[in-house]
Amino acid sequence: MMSIHFQEAQRYIPGGVNSPVRAFRGVGGDPIFIDRAEGAYFYDVEGQRYLDYVGSWGPMILGHAHPSVIAAVQATAAKGLSFGAPTVLETELAKKINQLMPSIELVRMVSSGTEATMSAIRLARGYTGRDKIVKFSGCYHGHVDSLLVKAGSGVLTLGLPNSPGVPASLAEQTLTVDYNNVEQVREVFAQWGEQIAAVIVEPVAGNMNFIRPLPDFLPTLRQVCDQYGSVLIFDEVMTGFRVALGGAQQLFDIKPDLTTLGKVIGGGMPVGAFGGKQEIMSHIAPLGAVYQAGTLSGNPVAMIAGLTTLDLISEVGFYSRLEEKINKLINGLSHSAASSGISLIGDYLGGMFGVFFTDAKQVTNFAQVSDCRVDLFKAFFHGMLKEGIYFAPSAFEAGFMSSAHSEEDIEKTIAAAERVFKTLV
Ligand code: PMP
Repeated sequence: MMSIHFQEAQRYIPGGVNSPVRAFRGVGGDPIFIDRAEGAYFYDVEGQRYLDYVGSWGPMILGHAHPSVIAAVQATAAKGLSFGAPTVLETELAKKINQLMPSIELVRMVSSGTEATMSAIRLARGYTGRDKIVKFSGCYHGHVDSLLVKAGSGVLTLGLPNSPGVPASLAEQTLTVDYNNVEQVREVFAQWGEQIAAVIVEPVAGNMNFIRPLPDFLPTLRQVCDQYGSVLIFDEVMTGFRVALGGAQQLFDIKPDLTTLGKVIGGGMPVGAFGGKQEIMSHIAPLGAVYQAGTLSGNPVAMIAGLTTLDLISEVGFYSRLEEKINKLINGLSHSAASSGISLIGDYLGGMFGVFFTDAKQVTNFAQVSDCRVDLFKAFFHGMLKEGIYFAPSAFEAGFMSSAHSEEDIEKTIAAAERVFKTLV
């Protein structure tokens, strides 16, 4: 029977949710309605406790309701919620971002990742005077019209709308290429290079489960963008301050022209940002003619949540501790899967990971993710949920580890998975 909360929600909210993946369509069943959270756990409205590997889809890298973040937010909120005029906190967060990601010389705050990518695309188009953009199959950059586009019938075809409401004339300005496929990148540039304003990429993909870039992928993007005068945009909404303190750009030592941020920089509050080379960013209003604005942009409560979070994660060893825990989790899961005769592989960087039900040795693009056993994932998801462990309700999402997860939590997860795997065969 459908939960009373979900029933009531559906009377007033489309599908009962304010973001589609929350509706559990990818796994079936009813979503859990959350009351509160603390550390690695959240509690539903019935008081049931769950160990959380979603962390609000990335922001909660310190765990939920971190006492320092909550205290800073409360103190700032008491001074007023929004002014629509500059505050010193905005400069402090901008300065901190610049220190952690030096490619970001100037940064503009917005209120979501979608706003960040939308604005970066507009800026790249305004700056280059070109219209076409290149994106990769399986990468998600928010619900921006130009980015809700699927590939045409082959590589060298113009894009098609991925959603009703996206004009075909706009979608055809977006060229979609397979992730990690440098030959296709070169082909697309050979044909359209002079018209390409920007390449936008998740430098580590987290919206088709978890896929790391192959060694030549990001350097090739940098090289073709330099050759053709196109803007290279790293969408680090998910990977920024998550795969490493300096993001994927630090880890892989590639300097994008523009970077989009979100999730961790807001510490759980609605924050996004886009920034990069001064030469490009100075085309944004009021310095330049490319328009972009926001009533709540740079909101003081959001800024202090982000600043406090970035300060705490700057501690030496923070990311290696996250990696150790993920390593233990993935090894444990794949061993216990194997003992039930199930093939499972995993991968991770920093505090972000993916597990795949597959016989393959490595998964490098969207087609390979789609070939994994979604049926096994669904059964695993529901089995774990019954054990009080919450993984992302979709086989196409990454998992997130926080500093609040303990060794004991990881052991508990592996023991539960062992019981669940036995029921899958
Ligand atoms: N880019 C990436 C890489 C993302 O993962 C997301 C959200 N999952 C977005 C952009 C959009 O961010 P938001 O949901 O805050 O609009």
